[in-house]
This record gives sequence, C-alpha cells and structure tokens, in this order.
Amino acid sequence: QAKSSGRNMYAYYHPCLTQKASHFLMRERELYQALERNEFILHYQPQFSSSDRKVTSVEALIRWQHPEKGLLFPSEIIPVAESSKLMVEIGNWVLAEACRQLNVWRSEGLSDLGIAVNMSIRQFSDARLTKLIDQLLHQYGLPAHSLELEITESCLQDDLVDNAHLRELEKSGISISIDDFGTGYSCMSSLKNLPIHKLKIDRSFIKDIPHDKNDCAIASAILALGKELNLKVVAEGIEFPEQVDFLDAHGCDEFQGFLFSKPVLPGKITELIKSQANYH
Ligand code: C2E
Ligand code: MG
Ligand code: MG
Ligand code: MG
Repeated sequence: QAKSSGRNMYAYYHPCLTQKASHFLMRERELYQALERNEFILHYQPQFSSSDRKVTSVEALIRWQHPEKGLLFPSEIIPVAESSKLMVEIGNWVLAEACRQLNVWRSEGLSDLGIAVNMSIRQFSDARLTKLIDQLLHQYGLPAHSLELEITESCLQDDLVDNAHLRELEKSGISISIDDFGTGYSCMSSLKNLPIHKLKIDRSFIKDIPHDKNDCAIASAILALGKELNLKVVAEGIEFPEQVDFLDAHGCDEFQGFLFSKPVLPGKITELIKSQANYH
C-alpha cells in the first residue's frame, strides 16, 4: 500500500516515524531532486607514479553543489543513497560523467590518462552494468584499460557480487582495484581467484607512518603481498614526505594524497599534467 503510493508515502508515514527516520527519508528525496536538477559534480584527485612522479590517473570523487548549503561531501550523499536504488542511479551518473570528462581530457591531448570510479556494491547487483560500461566506452571513444573500477573488500565477500559479473568486466579490459584495502575482512582467496589489478592501502594505515611501527608493518606487508601477487599497490591519504620515503623504499607503485594534490576541478588536472615536463 505504502509502496504503490510512491513518493507520497513519506508524508503518509510521517507521524509514525522517529525523527531520525523522517530526516533520512527527507534526505533521500533531496538526493533524488539533486540528481534531477544536475547538482552533483565530480572532483578529481590525481594518482602519481612513484617512478617518475607523473600523473597516471585520477580518481573521481562525488560532490553536491547544494543551492543553499554550498559544496557537500560524499559523507552527506553516499550513506543515504546506499540504502536504496538511488545509489545505482547516482553511481551510473558518476560513471557517465567520468567517461565524458575523460573524453574531454583526451581531446586536450592527455591521451595516457586513466580514470578511477568508486563503485557501490549495489551497482554490481544490477545486471545492466556491463552493458552500460560498454556503451559509455564506445560513446566516448575510450580504451577499456583507461577505466578503473574501485570496489571495497566487503563487495568481494558478499554474494551479491557475482564473480561472473566482475570477470565479464575484466575480460573487456577494464581494471579493478580494491579500495580501502586492509579495513574489511581481507579475503586472501578472493585476491587469488578474482580478476583484480590493484590494491589501495587505506589511509588509516598510512596516517602514522613512519612513527607507528604497526602501521609500517601493515603497509609493508600489503606492499609485499601486492608484489607477490603481481598487483599494483597505491597508497592513499599521503600528507607528509616521510610517508613517501617509507613507501618508496618498500616498492609502492603509486601515490595519492593531499601532499601531491587535493581533489580538484577538471581544469586543474589539465593544468597540472600540462605543466609536467615533456607530457605527450
Ligand atoms: P575513497 O574512495 O577512499 O576516497 C578517498 C577519500 O580520501 C576522499 O574523500 C579524498 O578526498 C580523501 N583524501 C585523499 N587524500 C587525502 C589526504 O591526504 N588526507 C585526507 N585526510 N583525506 C584524503 P571524499 O571525497 O570525501 O570521499 C570519501 C569516500 O566517499 C570515498 O573514499 C568513497 O568511498 C566515497 N565516494 C566518493 N565518491 C563516490 C562515488 O562516486 N561513488 C561511491 N559509491 N562512493 C564514493
Ligand atoms: Mg576510492
Ligand atoms: Mg579509499
Ligand atoms: Mg578511504
């Protein structure tokens, strides 16, 4: 009954809901509106190769340009969206916008740039994902290897994520990374069995390097694991040169963090890459 009455259900149930729940439904409705009104934007944070310190790819991070509240961060968007199919719609918008922007950068001469998109587990349970991605790559003339999907460890152990689905994507040449690596229930067998290309060491393990011996041990263990399994390893959340020294010494492939660059608007990425020596 409530379902068939669509969006009016919010008003209908309002008196019975706790304040928290009604606030949540209100936020959900605002997010739908934001999508319709095109208020989401993407910022991009570059990832740098450890070998030459040049930008290899950028990670797309969602922002909400709110008409009254200003720029809002994912913490105001994702937790609310995750609980409904809204996450699939927002996630698909992010994918499409990221592909559109990569096409613009490529037309500006940044032909080697890759793009990483954060994926929600809900997007993987949508059977149309592979088709959508194929369509976007085709529409924007992008090589499959320029697109990287970031998934979290919880996606891997959940039955919702069909391994066949991941394999299908991987077969088309897209690369897959595990985000926030080390914070979930790291499942070593999934590293062995699934088509994964990259591990991103979570910021929580990077933060206190080189002072915290445990964090140093965890980070170097992840780097060793990546090397043995032939996976690239990226460190997230780098803020200090001492962290870079440690990570460099332990064979980290790529760096990402405020020390190198905050997430920025697309134009800044163009500037940054063009200012690097002999880009082509
Ligand atoms: P994430 O994918 O692990 O992204 C990295 C987050 O760390 C970003 O926060 C980034 O701004 C922040 N960060 C990067 N370098 C540093 C640093 O040096 N120091 C500190 N303190 N922070 C740093 P942001 O943009 O707030 O995003 C938070 C999370 O929201 C992301 O974590 C990701 O899980 C999620 N997210 C963002 N965009 C999307 C999206 O389009 N779809 C989905 N499903 N999730 C998204
Ligand atoms: Mg990420
Ligand atoms: Mg992360
Ligand atoms: Mg994180």
